[in-house]
Amino acid sequence: MLDKVVIANRGEIALRILRACRELGIKTVAVHSTADASLMHVRLADESVCIGPPSALESYLNIPAIIAAAEVTDAVAIHPGYGFLAESADFAEQVERSGFEFIGPTAAAIRLMGDKVSAIAAMKKAGVPCVPGSDGALGTDEKTNLAIGKRIAYPVIIKASGGGGGRGMRVVHHEKDLIDSIALTKAEAKAAFNNDVVYMEKFLTTPRHVEIQIMADKHGNAIYLGERDCSMQRRHQKVVEEAPAPGMTEEKRRFIGERCVQACIDMGYRGAGTFEFLYEKGEFYFIEMNTRVQVEHPVSELITGVDIIKEQLRVAEGQPLSYRQEDIQIRGHSIECRINAEDPVTFIPSPGTITRYHAPGGPGVRWDSHIYSGYKVPPYYDSMIGKLITYGETREVAMARMQMALDEVVIDGIKTNIELQRRIMADENFQKGGTNIHYLEHKLELEAQ
Ligand code: ADP
Repeated sequence: MLDKVVIANRGEIALRILRACRELGIKTVAVHSTADASLMHVRLADESVCIGPPSALESYLNIPAIIAAAEVTDAVAIHPGYGFLAESADFAEQVERSGFEFIGPTAAAIRLMGDKVSAIAAMKKAGVPCVPGSDGALGTDEKTNLAIGKRIAYPVIIKASGGGGGRGMRVVHHEKDLIDSIALTKAEAKAAFNNDVVYMEKFLTTPRHVEIQIMADKHGNAIYLGERDCSMQRRHQKVVEEAPAPGMTEEKRRFIGERCVQACIDMGYRGAGTFEFLYEKGEFYFIEMNTRVQVEHPVSELITGVDIIKEQLRVAEGQPLSYRQEDIQIRGHSIECRINAEDPVTFIPSPGTITRYHAPGGPGVRWDSHIYSGYKVPPYYDSMIGKLITYGETREVAMARMQMALDEVVIDGIKTNIELQRRIMADENFQKGGTNIHYLEHKLELEAQ
């Protein structure tokens, strides 16, 4: 039995994990930096340990400090949340070697999926459709690389195998630029990720971002919880997410979901995970797998009724999944707006004290946030301060509820992107559904003119 869990994260996800633990009767340990002593979940946790100064490198990324906190509090498991150490195979390994349960997949699975060339190879083997590409790392022979470019057809994209966070990628439109672009991307990848392995893919020009949520246990069972559409992005950062994806059919969902499940079984995957795809003209193209819970998990929870964090805790405990695939019914529609402490026009972060605060509410409204009146948003971390999530029997109802909730919420003292979210909800093409990953940036450019 997991009787005490260290929450190795901060902000809304730390509070979300704490709530799931409470429901299951699991005690919690909050670990925090000196800048975060007044976080809501630190106040609510059974115990708390300060693990270092504000700098994330010395606190939330400080592996020995987090493991020491688990030791002194007699905890049995560590939940990494998302970001920080959630996809560090080294962290997972050290947690397990120190005798604690890592709430997530094995270090080997994290490593396999963290390297994009090996991840794509594993997907192909499992029958998951991938972007047409170089089938592995690019070598140094120029003739071969030019032939690969010709076969894939331009535009192509050169990507770093160890890349992440939207970095280490370069689009090539003409054959004459290919060789130089490969060399440049290799050099950048070496500098940024200490790994100069790169590969080539067809560059899709108008895809949507559609991802599949999966859940697996330690007994060889895996299920998919439908898809999410996260095409509303700025600089490769998701701004709005929804489930199901507008226009998705049950047949397409089952086709891709079953292949993701097979891939999980093949690699002995356990816990929550997401297969990310580009989706164009009704076809899925795998781009990467995230081996952790994601920011946007609530929209899947609302349309399936599955509590993904509680399921993660149960799986870590060694219990079988609480659901079989046939138990998963998709009902209604859910939308999430990320609320950030930032200027709605310049996107410059806006830390500071929240002087006045009123939370939205009403039927079908969920507000996952750690903020409160008087809370001081620190300047050291990600600017997301909450997630506003609505649910409705139809997409129209979910959108109407989101518009109301965005009008109701009051966050004074700092700047937020609520105004931008209102504009997105009022956008005619968003309302129609199915816009591609470039839509928001184009809209912002037009509005700036
Ligand atoms: P990261 O791990 O850095 O997030 P991804 O492989 O997930 O890298 O790609 C990030 C984003 O880059 C995608 O969401 C998409 O916008 C763009 N991208 C990546 N590969 C392609 C491709 N083959 N065609 C078009 N866009 C792509």
